[in-house]
Amino acid sequence: MGRLKDSVIDQEERARRAASLGDLARAGIGVFCWCNRCGHNAEAATAMLSQQLGPAFPVPEIGTKMRCSSCGSKDIATRPAWPSRGQIARHD
Ligand SMILES: [Zn+2]
Repeated sequence: MGRLKDSVIDQEERARRAASLGDLARAGIGVFCWCNRCGHNAEAATAMLSQQLGPAFPVPEIGTKMRCSSCGSKDIATRPAWPSRGQIARHD
């Protein structure tokens, strides 16, 4: 009873949790990094970050470990670099 609904909710819960480096490594995608000061952005290699920070490290917190290679700011936002499907809605 209600197993389908349970499993859908479970998937939504998972999606709402922050992705970890291990999740991205399994999905084969990188980490998109954005400098909040100068707008410099780059995609970092998940494998390298996973070696440094561990596969359980949450992607949104990677920015706290980074420094902008362009302006030196440590105000970096990071998120999974999901494959772009053209123009997507902004979430911020
Ligand atoms: Zn910068």
